[in-house]
Amino acid sequence: MGSKYYITTAIDYVNSAPHIGTAYEKISADVFARFHRLIGDEVFFLMGNDEHSLNVLRAAAAKGMDPQAYTDEMEGVFRGIWDKLEIEFDRFIRTTEPDHVRGLSTLFRALEDDIYQGHYEGHYCESCEAFYQEKDLVDGCCPTHGTKPAWIKEENYFFRLSKYADRLLAHIEEHPDFIRPESRRNEIVQLIKGGLEDISITRAGTDWGVPLPMDESQVIYVWVDALTNYATGIGYGYDDERFAKWWPADAHIIGKDITRFHCVIWPSMLMAAGIELPKTIYGHGFVYFKGQKLSKSRGVTVDPLEAADVFGPSALRYFLMREGTYGRDVDFTWEQFRSRYDSELANDLGNLVSRTTAMVGKFLGGELRNLSSGSGDALRSLSADVRATVETEMLAYAPQAALAKTWELVRRANSFIEEEKPWVLAKEDRGRLEQVLFDVLEAIRQVAVLAWPVMPGKSEAILRELGLTLEPGGATLDELLAWGSEWGDAISVAKGEPVFPKYTDEDLAAKFDIVSGATTATAPRTEAAPEGAPADDTDSTDKGAGKMMTFQQFQELDLKLAKIIEAGKVEGTSKLIKMRVDLGGNDVRQMVAGIAEDYAADDLVGKTIVVVANLEPAKIRGIESQAMLLAAVDGGSIALVVPEKDLPPGTGVS
Ligand code: ZN
Repeated sequence: MGSKYYITTAIDYVNSAPHIGTAYEKISADVFARFHRLIGDEVFFLMGNDEHSLNVLRAAAAKGMDPQAYTDEMEGVFRGIWDKLEIEFDRFIRTTEPDHVRGLSTLFRALEDDIYQGHYEGHYCESCEAFYQEKDLVDGCCPTHGTKPAWIKEENYFFRLSKYADRLLAHIEEHPDFIRPESRRNEIVQLIKGGLEDISITRAGTDWGVPLPMDESQVIYVWVDALTNYATGIGYGYDDERFAKWWPADAHIIGKDITRFHCVIWPSMLMAAGIELPKTIYGHGFVYFKGQKLSKSRGVTVDPLEAADVFGPSALRYFLMREGTYGRDVDFTWEQFRSRYDSELANDLGNLVSRTTAMVGKFLGGELRNLSSGSGDALRSLSADVRATVETEMLAYAPQAALAKTWELVRRANSFIEEEKPWVLAKEDRGRLEQVLFDVLEAIRQVAVLAWPVMPGKSEAILRELGLTLEPGGATLDELLAWGSEWGDAISVAKGEPVFPKYTDEDLAAKFDIVSGATTATAPRTEAAPEGAPADDTDSTDKGAGKMMTFQQFQELDLKLAKIIEAGKVEGTSKLIKMRVDLGGNDVRQMVAGIAEDYAADDLVGKTIVVVANLEPAKIRGIESQAMLLAAVDGGSIALVVPEKDLPPGTGVS
């Protein structure tokens, strides 16, 4: 039996549905959790939603909903997506749950000696829900959102963070695995060496949150509330035995943008409360998607998450774990996705499975004996080498290297078939034929097991074709993958549907239409405006009398509030302005619009406007415009559509 492994992800604000970046984090954590199950560890995998955010309160208000009812509804949205992506957690915690609220109050009583009342005055970015010191701002703006933070003046409570700087530095020094990868550790060390100030840990003037035990007129700051989920999720404050069993966390998997909270504030709170620190905090990179099209024949931009609907969740998971280096940023492009799908999944692995099962059917009637004792070295010794490397790389949070190594076995099995030519052996040497096909089947089994953490659905489908099932736990990887170990004496193989079917552009266009309800492709495409017209000036004759849009078509429009971060005239044009706009959630895009005759670029900066976020990008004067703004046009006069109340970028418009 292995050891215990407790892994968590960041919990998410529920003011908008998960995107590819959020999914990337959850998928990677699920991969590590599954790998530890596979090697016989006892695993607890915690995920959840962060519900006490002002962003959530605003999103609920915008829908005219009670915030609790809104978070209930969003729980379903999140769980649905995680389920679709084959993510299997042991608990999904919500910060409005009584367990969590109780545990959080307990923690605050444990922190009491380091909490004091004070006066807070400072910069607060409402999108981050974070306080910033002057020195952290970039040109007076939030480093993440590029927006001007609010100036907040409040009486609230502080935590003596400054007191823990030296102890924290010493801990980081003595525990090289505490913050990973190394680049993140270096950033945090620099940050701490630059000096830590005490932080405000409550907010006044709202009742959306958990009341501070010592002063119920204040609620606990949402970040401190959220961080505590890692402890309350396994019993802290209400089930001591469970907490003692799982704590400390073996891995907090988080985004690189929130390391300050996880690597500085959270461990300091734990030290203050006398609780052991987590073993590893892993700050992964971002997934960047620049709105590229799926194919030439499909004109619209397809969200990367839709890959799970069309190619299957295993394929999306494979791509995200194989592309790039875990810990660094990943670019998602459809071209690269399809290239890996076609070559590594459909050709290398899919084809290996289908040709082998087909040959066993055709030459041996689907039946053969367990011939593990007669196997030569060709696949057997490589498989032992692959297994060892996969284990090392996965324990080092390097799924890309583990997959690259696993595919060596896939390719070797394919070349072994070419060398041995079973179609010739079928006529000349039935004994050798059976041995060769057994060896290849066993290599396929090894690959399916090793790839299972990354592509559980497809691995299980492959094993089913071989007449096998996988129940991880209770055995070490060496036992599970001892050559030929899982088969009985008689093996029965049934060829199934192709595990990774090949698709043409036309197949894919049709499949994506089904996924998106068939309306996207048939709706008339709106071209971006040429120079001289505002970018939203669509042809009005197209919307003739009686031509109504369905509600579903309307819903497909992704209208959002966007904040203009930068604006400047496009050289050599009279009407075009190029802008950078913030759509919330780290989505910053470039946009071009023909509004220079009505607006000076400088006046635009800081304005919040309405944009269509899901329109395919267009090139205007060679500059890519990745969103389209809404404006009213009367003859030569243009008026931007702006919200009549201040709301954060990314807020949906419906
Ligand atoms: Zn911000």
